Amino acid sequence: MHPHYPHHGHIDGDIVIIGFGSVGRGLLPLIERHFTYDLKRLHVIEPSGEHASFLAQRGIHHLQVALTPDNYRAVLAPLLGPGGFCVHVSVDTASLALMRLARECGALYIDTVVEPWAGFYFDFTQPASARTNYALREAVRAEARTRPGGPTAVNCCGANPGLVSWLLKEALLRLAADLGRPQAAVPAQRADWASLMRRLGVKGVHIAERDTQSAAEARPLGTFVNTWSVDGFLAEAFQPAELGWGTHERWFPPGAQRHAEGCRAAIYLDTPGLLTKAHTWTPAGGPQYGFLVTHHEAIAIADYYTVGDAVQPEYRPTCHYAYHPCDAAVLSLHETLGSGRVQERTKILGEHEILWGADDLGVLLYGHARNALWYGSRLTIAQARELAPYQNATGLQVTSAVLAGMAWALANPRAGIVETDEMDHEFCLRVQRPYLGSIEAHYTAWTPIATRWAQFQEEIDDADPWQFKNVLAT
Ligand code: NAD
Repeated sequence: MHPHYPHHGHIDGDIVIIGFGSVGRGLLPLIERHFTYDLKRLHVIEPSGEHASFLAQRGIHHLQVALTPDNYRAVLAPLLGPGGFCVHVSVDTASLALMRLARECGALYIDTVVEPWAGFYFDFTQPASARTNYALREAVRAEARTRPGGPTAVNCCGANPGLVSWLLKEALLRLAADLGRPQAAVPAQRADWASLMRRLGVKGVHIAERDTQSAAEARPLGTFVNTWSVDGFLAEAFQPAELGWGTHERWFPPGAQRHAEGCRAAIYLDTPGLLTKAHTWTPAGGPQYGFLVTHHEAIAIADYYTVGDAVQPEYRPTCHYAYHPCDAAVLSLHETLGSGRVQERTKILGEHEILWGADDLGVLLYGHARNALWYGSRLTIAQARELAPYQNATGLQVTSAVLAGMAWALANPRAGIVETDEMDHEFCLRVQRPYLGSIEAHYTAWTPIATRWAQFQEEIDDADPWQFKNVLAT
C-alpha cells in the first residue's frame, strides 16, 4: 500500500489499460497510488510505441497493437477475467464491444465516452442521426436493459461526461439550501432527484467550461493544439450539435430534429458543434461563447432528470455543453475550418509547457429564483503539477474521475452497466475531491440577453432570457 495516499481497493486480477494518451498516462500514477495489485498483471495496450521505454522502465507489460473489430477478442480475452479490470481510455475502439467482452469474461470495466470503432465519426455517408451521441448512448442503454446486472461496467466516467453529473447533484443540494429549502435527506432515487430539480425551478444546465491554460510558445501554423485528445475533440466537433431538450422551451431551432426512438431526451441541430456557439458564463471569464459540442452528459442528464412520460414529459431540463477550449485550440479550430482540412501536426500541451492558466469546469444551473448558479472545479496548472505527474489541469479532472469510478466499481462489483448519474455522487466526490483544486459556487445575475451587441439584428425573447433561442449565438 502507498504510505501517503488513501487506499481505494485491491484489484485481484489483470488490469488492462487500453490507450496510453493524455488520459492513460495521467491515470497510471493515480492507479499506482490508490490501488493495490500485482504489477506483473498490469498491461497497457498502446499501438504507437511512443511510450514503450517509459513502460519498460516501470516493468509494465506493453502490447503494441491497435485494437480492431477483427482482433480485439483475440488480444483481450486471454487477459480479462474475474477480479480484473478493463480500463478503456483510447480513441477508435468501440466501448460497446469492449464492455460486452469484459463482462462476458467477468472483469470490471470503465470508459470515459461511448467511443465507436475508427471511421464512425467521419462517415458522412451516414445520416446525421446515425452519427449522434444519442445513437451511441441508446446502443449502450439497450445493452444495459438486455443484460441487466452482472459485472460492473462504468460508462462515460471522465470529467464530462462523468464528474459533472456528481457536481450537479451537489449543486442542487446547495441551491436548495440557498433558496431556504434545505433537504433533510439526500434524494435516494432518480425520480427524487428529478423532482428536486423541478421543484427548485431549474430550467436548464450548461456544462460551462473555460480552459485558460496557455503555453510559453505560440501555436505553430498548421498544428492543432489542445489540452487533451485532438482526435477526440475533432471527432465530437464534427458531429451534429446535440442538446437535451427541456420542457420550458417554446421555440424550436429551425432544421433541428427529434428522435423517433429511445429516451427522446435530446434533439440534434443541423450544424456541427464547431459551427454552433452558445452564450454562457463561467467564473474565469464571466460571459463567454462556448462551442455547443455534442456530449454524452447533455443527453444523459436531460434523460435522468425527466419527470413523467419520455415522449410528453411533465418536466425536463435543457442541457448542453458550452465549451471554451484553451485559446490555442480555438485558433486551431479556426484554422481547420478556414483551410478545409485537418492539420497534419497535432499537439497536446504537457504540464511543463503550460505557463499559466486553469480549467474551470462546472455546471451552470439556470432559470431559478436566484437566476444562475455555476458550481464546479477550478484547477490551475500549478495545482495540477503539485498534485500528480504527467498531466495538465484538464487531464487531472478526467483521470481523477476515472480513479473515483474505478473505486466505486470495486466497491460495487455487480452493478451492471451504469452511467455516472446512477452512481453514489458522495462516494465518488470523496475519492476525487483532493484532485479538483477549488470547488466553488458562484451565483450570477448574468443572462444570455445581458451581453448582446446592439449593432446586430437579433430576434430575442425578452420575456424569458433563458430560452434556448437566446442562448444560441447566431
Ligand atoms: P489521446 O489522443 O491522447 O490518446 C489516444 C490513445 O489511444 C493513444 O495512446 C493511442 O495510441 C491509442 N489508440 C488509438 N487507436 C487505438 C486502437 N485502435 N487500439 C488501442 N489504442 C488506440 O486521447 P486522450 O486524451 O488520452 O483521450 C482518450 C479517450 O478519453 C478519448 O476517447 C477521449 O474522447 C476521452 N476523453 C474523455 C474525457 C471526459 O471528460 N469524459 C476527457 C478527455 C478525453
